[in-house]
Amino acid sequence: MYLTRVIYCSELSGANKDAISDILSVSRRNNAKASISGMLLFNGTFFLQCLEGSRNAVNETYHRIMRDERHCHPVLLAYEAIAQRDFGDWDTAYVPWTSDVRKIIRLFSIDEEFNPYQLSGESAISLFRALRGHLPNSEHWSKPLQQA
Ligand code: FAD
Repeated sequence: MYLTRVIYCSELSGANKDAISDILSVSRRNNAKASISGMLLFNGTFFLQCLEGSRNAVNETYHRIMRDERHCHPVLLAYEAIAQRDFGDWDTAYVPWTSDVRKIIRLFSIDEEFNPYQLSGESAISLFRALRGHLPNSEHWSKPLQQA
């Protein structure tokens, strides 16, 4: 089964910002079971998520996420076969909105505001890789991928 990566962005809808903790706990549970790794960025308005794993698992998870009414206006930024995982250490690494993270995001942004709809697939993966080194070492934000 081919390793596959999906990156999409979307916008919060029909839910408050606290929905992120429910989303994260379900994602971590499901993604660990399906051997999906990846990263989720949320600034209170926009989501940017990368999912990597087997093609079937990534496709199923992506389609389930697309049916979720807690977000809207999804745009697929990248879908590709990959040789290896970039985020194998995390089932769903959540990137906290810190000043360090904002500095990195500015390098990939057209203006001051974070707007993932302005990212190409290539910029999005470069951004995730740049953020990977800045994940705090805390259970609350990131959790190692468990063996399925
Ligand atoms: P269940 O155990 O049936 O439900 C999970 C929980 O989510 C329940 O508490 C349920 O009440 C709540 N819930 C589900 N849908 C809604 C809704 N529309 N409004 C309010 N609450 C709701 N899932 C993953 O498995 N992996 C991911 O990486 C992932 N990333 C996501 C990223 C974003 C931006 C969003 C919005 C959702 C994401 N989800 C992810 C959640 C996904 O959309 C499904 O809700 C989830 O996968 C359902 O899993 P389940 O069948 O095990 O859920």
